[in-house]
Amino acid sequence: MHYHPKSDLLNNRIILITGAGDGIGREAALTYARFGAQLILLGRTESKLASVQQEIAARNLRPAFIYALDLLTASQQDCQRVADQIAQWVPHLDGVLHNAGLLTEITPMAEIQLQDWMNVMQVNVNATFMLTQALLPLMLKSASSSLVFTTSSVGREGRSGWGAYAVSKFATEGMMQVLAEEHKHTGLRVNCINPGGTRTSMRASAFPDENKDKLKTPADIMPLYLYLMGDDSRRKTGISFDAQPGRKAGPAE
Ligand code: NDP
Repeated sequence: MHYHPKSDLLNNRIILITGAGDGIGREAALTYARFGAQLILLGRTESKLASVQQEIAARNLRPAFIYALDLLTASQQDCQRVADQIAQWVPHLDGVLHNAGLLTEITPMAEIQLQDWMNVMQVNVNATFMLTQALLPLMLKSASSSLVFTTSSVGREGRSGWGAYAVSKFATEGMMQVLAEEHKHTGLRVNCINPGGTRTSMRASAFPDENKDKLKTPADIMPLYLYLMGDDSRRKTGISFDAQPGRKAGPAE
């Protein structure tokens, strides 16, 4: 995507990112902070969140809050506690980027371990739903807020071996469409991003033998992440966007 936002695109915007300690979420945090946003960094590993928080502070950007939460074990009460804590910190949320995700072994449906299936559904679908439900009131307090889910090309067209992960991303697309429809007359827009193959540890676990140099980095795909959090996307809702339009799914050669 060719998008050149103004340097103050996200000034005064308050954005929560899940899975902000690593990979695409980490890059989104640093990028949003650079464009003026105040951030709430949520993730599983507190030390990784603290390191992103320190990096933001070292660049003299708006100080970020951190909240450690393991989405694998998170309950509805835990998600409500997140919302209650955030309401103590800030008056509203202008953006939520649901980026945390779990990918387990690539294996045929017939061989998926039930616990793996449950874990993927818990992190990618149930926790995403519970957090969204808890955070909606804070988002609706903003005059214009953006809810962004993270999908995948296997969430649009099933692919052999991608089992629970693919099904969870189809569910993510569905969650986005329902919410977008429900909120089309409010200030909340709801969309999905498909990052496309991107150089992170999740990608390396799925395609250990591919040529990593051929993959885009998290920094390369940030234009779409910026576009969807800023005012230029104000009228876009119910859309599943590609950060790398035209890229063929599968390993980089
Ligand atoms: P990474 O594995 O690099 O990062 C995932 C982040 O999510 C990490 O910060 C991780 O925390 C966090 N996370 C994982 N499980 C939990 C949990 N139980 N509770 C809280 N946080 C958790 O993945 P990517 O950056 O590659 O992926 C980001 C998103 O993009 C995912 O939704 C993924 O499905 C999607 N995606 C990625 C593609 C790619 O090629 N990279 C392609 C298509 C979609 P921790 O740091 O503690 O491990």
